[in-house]
Formats: sequence, structure tokens, C-alpha cells
Amino acid sequence: SPVAEGILRRKSLQLRNIQQDWQESEEGQKMQELRRSLPAYKEKEALLNAISRNQVIVVSGETGCGKTTQLPQYILESEIDAARGALCSIICTQPRRISAMSVAERVAAERGEKLGDSVGYKVRLEGIKGRDTRLLFCTTGILLRRLLLDRSLRGVTHVIVDEIHERGMNEDFLLIVLKELLPRRPELKLILMSATLNAELFSSYFGGAPTIHIPGFTYPVRSYFLENILDMTGYRLSTYNQIDNYGQEKMWKMQKQTVRKKKSQIASAAEDALEAADLRDFNPRTRDSLSCWNPDSIGFNLIENVLCHICRKERPGAVLVFMTGWDDINSLKDQLQSHPLLGDPTKVLLLACHGSMDSSEQKLIFNRSEDGIRKIVLATNMAETSITINDVVFVVDCGKAKETSYDALNNTPCLLPAWISKASARQRRGRAGRVQPGECYHLYPKSVYDAFAEYQLPELLRTPLQSLCLQIKSLQLGSISEFLSSALQPPEPLSVQNAVEYLKIIGALDDNENLTVLGRKLSVLPVEPKLGKMLILGAIFNCLDPIMTIVAGLSVRDPFLMPFDKKDLAESAKAQFSSRDNSDHLALLRAFDGWKAAERQQSGHEYCWRNFLSSQTLRAIDSLRKQFYHLLRDGGLVDNMEKCNTWSHDEHLIRAIICSGLFPGICSVVNKEKSVSLKTMEDGPVLLYSNSVNSQEPTIPYPWLVFNEKVKVNSVFLRDSTAVSDSVLLLFGGSVSRGGLDGHLKMLGGYLEFFMKPGLAGTYLALKRELDELIQM
Ligand code: ADP
Ligand code: MG
Repeated sequence: SPVAEGILRRKSLQLRNIQQDWQESEEGQKMQELRRSLPAYKEKEALLNAISRNQVIVVSGETGCGKTTQLPQYILESEIDAARGALCSIICTQPRRISAMSVAERVAAERGEKLGDSVGYKVRLEGIKGRDTRLLFCTTGILLRRLLLDRSLRGVTHVIVDEIHERGMNEDFLLIVLKELLPRRPELKLILMSATLNAELFSSYFGGAPTIHIPGFTYPVRSYFLENILDMTGYRLSTYNQIDNYGQEKMWKMQKQTVRKKKSQIASAAEDALEAADLRDFNPRTRDSLSCWNPDSIGFNLIENVLCHICRKERPGAVLVFMTGWDDINSLKDQLQSHPLLGDPTKVLLLACHGSMDSSEQKLIFNRSEDGIRKIVLATNMAETSITINDVVFVVDCGKAKETSYDALNNTPCLLPAWISKASARQRRGRAGRVQPGECYHLYPKSVYDAFAEYQLPELLRTPLQSLCLQIKSLQLGSISEFLSSALQPPEPLSVQNAVEYLKIIGALDDNENLTVLGRKLSVLPVEPKLGKMLILGAIFNCLDPIMTIVAGLSVRDPFLMPFDKKDLAESAKAQFSSRDNSDHLALLRAFDGWKAAERQQSGHEYCWRNFLSSQTLRAIDSLRKQFYHLLRDGGLVDNMEKCNTWSHDEHLIRAIICSGLFPGICSVVNKEKSVSLKTMEDGPVLLYSNSVNSQEPTIPYPWLVFNEKVKVNSVFLRDSTAVSDSVLLLFGGSVSRGGLDGHLKMLGGYLEFFMKPGLAGTYLALKRELDELIQM
């Protein structure tokens, strides 16, 4: 209508005035000058031209050249200059929360505004965004969620997908969806941004979209490999030999990929390689059992030596250390803090870079440290491309990153610290040459580097696809397998089939692959389907409070600490929480509740210390619980918090809900004279991690364990588990709604037969008859 048009025009002019005022101000001028010094600036006109002439373009350029912070801003500025400010809506996706948040903050600052004015961000369960926000940085997941509500992205004028070279699952998925959307929205612009020169792949996926390369400049970086470092730091030669062994694990991995189908051959090759590799990497103490890039002695001491060497002998400049995961970062930080030199705050500023940093922590990381103080930042591979710390001169690269891989043959996800690719190693090295020539310490031999793959396998090809399949269904994208076959690099049909079958078993899809009511509810909860199912059941059965704690614990990490040197003490501390009821999940619940009570009396810290608990993790669990509550309330699943906790004290019910969520993760228990033997349908005999309360019991007085995760090394290991009875499994395992009770019985029957418990099937039939009669009445 003309009235609305008038309002929009006025608003656009207003935006233009604000922008001009800032650009003419003294501070604004200074900022402009800084921005003009970035390589992207030279391509500004070419970029804007290409965008106006094409629906899709691909932009590539060295990390730090200004793609993320500048390009979205160029678009915004040119729209505002053309008095179309109020009409444009630009969405820029980031693979990680932290980059969405920190980039938005940076761009708002460059525009002299507060977050939530013209620039905002939105990440899972959090965001700052105002009525006039025209440029929104969000995670890829958020845009996918938005597509769920509005499949044609009405009102959006530009979509920018950043860091596509990483080939994350969400990004690959988003590209399929956008590719299908473009013909329906001819005026929508799509800009793909990538760090490396792999741009042709994306360009050809979008029918030969033009590619613009931003030439960058970095200073040369000198590489040291382990053999040089050992000379330099005087480290013992035995270390070298042990670390060289890891090269063999790589060989094993490569072998596994090429001869994937010859299962037995691989199994024996894997065993040989792992035996040779001195299983140091295998650390069943921590939740991320395999996370550790040799975290105990050798790896950490080597890093410590290299850092000392830099601090003592090298010129000023910040150090960036690439670790495999958050656990390693924390343990290393603890170790370094007690070091006489590295732990001295007057000489060293030790920082850890993680996904939930607040802005004061971010400032410490991005800003130059005071003169005479060496800044050392410990980070995961997210510091490879999505954030840039300018004053880094030294990089320490442990050579590994935690990578989820997925073994479709056994339907088993594995979380392994895998050797990175050559592309990643180059990227890590490049971080040292931003402001002056730099140095990179690769903590592995050159021979291992030479064996690295060129690029990492895309995530879509190495992770379970359950959540993704659910999303495909809720976005009504048709047949799952057909949809996925149009991906940039389609996943294996067997992986797709496994995921669909899983969703059918838990009752999220019916036999015709249609979304069930449960499936629809699960697809709006941003957690794994099994965790979502627990939350929903927790709400339905009015025992939400404990279930939220357990689910939060499963999605954050294990709060029980298992230090190597005090493992017996730590284990018995954990056992106290289990009070012989054979459940890691209930132990976690009690530990959490105890901590809450202690917190109320100001003794939370002491409580954690006494019980080997991580207060940081408990706090994270607590805050996630609050977020779950809001989600469930917004989803209409909970209205009255008091009522939905009527049965919160009922441990049988909690156990049943855990069973319902974790099914079909079940294993049968047979108590032998001196040991317990465990078996799953897919793997045969399995073992428990020794930090499970169930591994410490001589017998498990239940016929079944349900578990959250299994990980394959040389054997299959189960993580947290909860023991359940026959009747709980019968009533809560799987979904009665699938094919009615008969279907349910058939599916369970398969399990019962496999585990040779035919008597149970009889019990079930009797139960079913009773139920049928009840229903008739
Ligand atoms: P690209 O996306 O091409 O890797 P960016 O746009 O992220 O590049 O970064 C461009 C420049 O802006 C870099 O020099 C980077 O250091 C700087 N920069 C980014 N974020 C911040 C911040 N929060 N504070 C200060 N400088 C920043
Ligand atoms: Mg970037």
C-alpha cells in the first residue's frame, strides 16, 4: 500500500542519514581507513557488480582478507546508499556460534553502532536483533530452522553462506535447499564464501556461477617439524619414536577408506596398526575418551617445551596453539598454569578460545597484549579460518582435530582425534604470517605430514544422518534418499538407510517415511532426536526436572573428572552417587542436585572439589536446563513448571524415560561367576568404559543396559549406561505408535529373538492382550 511504501521510504532515508553521519565523523573516518587497508576493499566494486548481475557468485580469498566482516557490509552499505536500506534483509551464515557472535559485534563496531541496530546476530537459543536489523549473522542451523517456518525465505534479499570450504554437514545441506529455492525466488541473491581455492567445485554445483578471487598477502612462515623441534628444545629422542608411531594410525585410516567394504581385512589391519601404535591415544578415563592427542605426558610436555623455547628465545609476538578439543585445552591450561614461567601472569597471558566466550574474554584474545607480556591462545580448529587473531607470530600445531567419523557398516559413530589434512595444516601455518614473518611448529614428523590427505572428507560423508533426515522431512523436501543424492558429494546409501531406519524405530517416521507427531515435535527441538524424545516424555510424564538435567548432561559433557593420578579416588567418589542402582545417568542427576544444594549454601566449590566434579561443566548444564525449559514452553509442551514435576522423584519413571530415549541403544546383560558379559545386536560382545558405575559392579542385577553412545577402538566400548528391567524395555523401548502394538511387538520381537529371550515375548503378548482388552472397554 502507498502508506507502507511511504514508511519504508522514510525509514530508508533515515538509515542513509545515520550511515552518512557516521562515515563523516572523525572516528568513522578512522575506521574507514582501516577497512580500506584490507585486501577485500580493492575488489569491492567488482564484487558488488557481480552480485547485481548474477543470482549466485562464489568468493574466495585468504583467511583474514575481509570476506566475513567486509563483504556483507559492502552489500548493506550499498543498499542503504541507494535508499533501499529498509527493503533489504541480508543473512550471513557462520558454521559456529562464536564466529556469528564475534563477527556481528565487530561489524556493528565498524559501523559505529550497537549490536541490534542495523547489525545483529542469532545463534541457538540466543541472539541480539532489533526491528531495524538489516544484516543478520547467524549459524547455519538457524537459517535451516528459519527455512522450516518459511520455505521461500520471504523478505530475505541476500543469503551469504560463509566458510563453505569446511564442508560441514549443515552447509552442504543448506546448499541443496538453496539450490532448489533459487528458481522460485529469482530476485534472491546467493553469495558463497570460501577460504581456499576449492571454489570451482561450488561454482559448478551452481551451474557455473562466476567466481571472484580476492588476492591476499601474507608474510612467509617458516615450518618446523618434529625432527627440528626435538633438536631445538632438547627433547628426548624416545618421544620422537613414540610420536612417529601415530603415522601408522593414519595409514590405517587411509586403508579403511579405500577398502571400506572388505570388513574383515580392515579389522585385522586396524588391530595390527593400533597394537603397533602403543595405544597411548586411547584414554578411557575421560568422556571424550579418544579425544586426546596424547594428553598425558608426552604431548603436553612437548607443547610446554616448545612454548618455553618461544618465550625464552624468540622475538615478541602472540602464540596460537591448535589442540584437538576442549578437554585437552583445559588440561593443558591447568598444567601450564603451574609452570614457573608459563604460569607467571606478569610474563605470560594464557587464554583459551572457546565457543561460549563473553565479550571481555574475546577482547583479551583479539587485542594486542601489553608490552613484555606474551599472549598464548589455546584453540581448537575453529581458529583455523573463522576467527583471525592479528598479532599471532608463532603457531603450534598438534596435527590433529577431533573429527566425528561414521562407520556405516557397523552403524557406529566414532569420535576420534584424526590427523588433519594438508589443507588444514597449511591454514594453521598461515595464521602465523598475518603481521610479520612467522614460525610454525608442527608437532609431528615431516613424514606424517606427507601422508596427510589433501582435504578432509566432507562431514556429510562421515557422520550419522539422523537429525539431518528429520530436517529433510520436516522441510517437506520429499524422499530422503532422493534429496540427499543431489548433494555436492552424496552420502553412501547405507548411511542414509541406517538413519531412516533409526528414525522409524524411535517413532519419528512411520513406515512410509512420513513424519509422525513425535517426529514433528522432535524436528523443532535443537537437540539430537533421542535427547528430544526424552525431553518430550519428561514433560508428558511430569518428571521434567530430572530429565532436563540428564539430557543437559548428555549434551554438554561429563561433569565427573577422572584425573589420571587419582583415578581410584575419583571413581569411588562417582560410585557414591550411584548408590548401587546401576545408572550413570542417575549418578549424574544426584551429583547435579547435590551441587545445587551446596551452591545454595555457598559451598558449591568445596562440593565439587571433594567429589571430583567440574563446576564449570555443572554450571553449563544448569544454564542449558534453563534453555530447555524455554524451548519446551515455547513449543507448547510445558505450561506449568510445577505440574510437570509432580513425578520428578520417581526413579523408575526416570529410568523408563531414559530407556525410551536411548533405545535402540541396548545391550543384554549376562552375569557370569566373576564377570558380566555384555552383548549388542550389531557388535556382539562389548565392554564398558571403566568410569561407568556399571563397570565397577561385580554383577548387574538387571537384564538390560541402555546406553547413549558406543565408540569403536579395537573393541566396542559403551559410555554412560543405565540398567533397565524387562518390563521397562517392553513398554518404553521403541514406539508403540509405529504400526500399532503389532508393529511394536514385531520390532521388539526381533530383539528378543536375537538375545534369545523368547519367554519375554510371551509376557509381552499377555501384556498386549490386557492392553487390547482395556482399549476395547
Ligand atoms: P576473512 O573472513 O576473509 O577471513 P575477516 O573479515 O574475518 O576475514 O577479517 C578481516 C580483518 O578484520 C582481519 O584482519 C581480522 O583480524 C579483523 N578482525 C576481525 N574480527 C575482529 C575483531 N573482533 N576485532 C578486531 N579485529 C577483527
Ligand atoms: Mg571469514
